[in-house]
Amino acid sequence: MSESNPGQRRQHGAPVFILDEDSEQTAGRDAQQTNIEAGKAIAEAVRTTLGPQGMDKMLVSDSGDVVITNDGAAILAEMDIEHPAAQMLADVADEQEAALGDGTTTAAVLTGELLSAAEDFIDDDIHPRTIVEGYWAAERIAAGAVDDYVVDADAFDGEPLQTVVESALTGKGTGSVSDAVQQVADDGEVAGDAVAVEAHTGKSASATEVVDGIIAEAEPVRDGMPDRLDDAAVAVVDDALEQRDPEIDAEYTISSDDQLSAAVTAEEETLVGYAETLADAGVDAAFVTDDIADRTADALASAGILAFEDIDSDDAAAVADVAGASQVPGPDEIAADDLGTVGTVAIEAVDDDTAVRVEDGAGEQRATVMVRGSTEHALNEIERAVNDGIDVAVATHDHGEVVPGGGLVELGIAERLRTEAASVEGRRQLAVEAAAEAFDAVPRTLARNAGRDPIDTLVQLRADNQEGRAGLVVDEDAEVADPADRGVLDPAAVKRESIRSPVEVATMILRIDDVITAD
Ligand code: ADP
Ligand code: MG
Repeated sequence: MSESNPGQRRQHGAPVFILDEDSEQTAGRDAQQTNIEAGKAIAEAVRTTLGPQGMDKMLVSDSGDVVITNDGAAILAEMDIEHPAAQMLADVADEQEAALGDGTTTAAVLTGELLSAAEDFIDDDIHPRTIVEGYWAAERIAAGAVDDYVVDADAFDGEPLQTVVESALTGKGTGSVSDAVQQVADDGEVAGDAVAVEAHTGKSASATEVVDGIIAEAEPVRDGMPDRLDDAAVAVVDDALEQRDPEIDAEYTISSDDQLSAAVTAEEETLVGYAETLADAGVDAAFVTDDIADRTADALASAGILAFEDIDSDDAAAVADVAGASQVPGPDEIAADDLGTVGTVAIEAVDDDTAVRVEDGAGEQRATVMVRGSTEHALNEIERAVNDGIDVAVATHDHGEVVPGGGLVELGIAERLRTEAASVEGRRQLAVEAAAEAFDAVPRTLARNAGRDPIDTLVQLRADNQEGRAGLVVDEDAEVADPADRGVLDPAAVKRESIRSPVEVATMILRIDDVITAD
């Protein structure tokens, strides 16, 4: 084999392994064959979930837990995948999900198609390296084609993100979910980590709402405390409000009643003093990250201060952000300008727990989508949909570019690949043509999943694209129309990634010609 074989080069200088006699080795074509089959199997598993009318999958774990979903990334994450090549595909899907939150099913379907075409080439004795090069050439052509379809998100009047978010959510969320995501998007700065998603059963999905702030699980330390404050001054104390432990080497011997009452009075003064300090600073609500002594809690209640103890540090940081407060290291350090203000602090029941809602703060913009669902299964699926929607809103917001959905871009890519294949030298040309077929699988699969004949639809789409722009628009029915006109839009960043990552995985799998399994 020549020096330029990347697989060979990588081995250069590697330690020599003496294989354990239990290890198994699958080499050459056999290794390629099994890897390709494994990758294809994974793609097959998610194919029927693509698009707004994709079917659901029921996943049952060893322990009998059931997940019902039509989210490709969730399926790949939940599947117990053993084959290493299949795992590579799942990992890349996972990466894409983490980076962009969408487009994973499309990527998996394309990977399956690329692998399956590669299988035929290998049977015809075309070297995997030729296929790899051809696929990367196709990737460059495809990426260029995407650019031609990019529309600025702002070009869509009114609410630019709405249509994109709705395309991402069709078939998954309910109206209230897309409203919720939309509201987050409309609130200006959509930064991924400024949006939290909380999911709780106990109410139906239509009760899903957006809170302009945060919701944290917390209970007031005393029943008598106010359960709602408007225009409240908020303090965040990163300490305990308790008597300090005496120095370790100091020993107090209390020998008389007088001494005892003096000690008690001193402690009392400290504990009540904490509450007085907060009251003097003008605090209406105190979020304390550690314990609050009983005596302090009583005094806070008498002063009409709403106080919470043992607030976890993330929640404390979030409250401080929203309110525009500084976290003070102890009650003695508190100054008026450490306080923040919020429009509302309200105690509410969430399912079986008590939570505090901190809304309309003077600090940073944050939003919480409070996802509700009547059952755990429904809830999980809605939560995934909301997360997808938010990711898509963020991707659109960050990059601004969108492209028509409904398979239109993939059709355009396929056409471009067929035209440009001729200019690609040698046998790699065949791989470019095969990639064109692979992209056709997206509109074909969307059509099949929407109950249309995939071949007839593809033929009609191609014909219609000679005159204008046509994709599949799934509304009540599935029809051929311009997806952009009908509000079916995908973020361009997601589209680009769902082109790049299949080529990456497929070529990664094709480069392997030796699988050594240790037992
Ligand atoms: P992915 O994991 O790839 O995002 P989805 O199941 O979300 O998979 O399907 C995404 C595909 O469905 C994209 O090609 C998108 O353009 C298309 N799509 C979304 N909504 C519609 C619709 N209403 N009509 C036609 N195609 C749609
Ligand atoms: Mg999607």
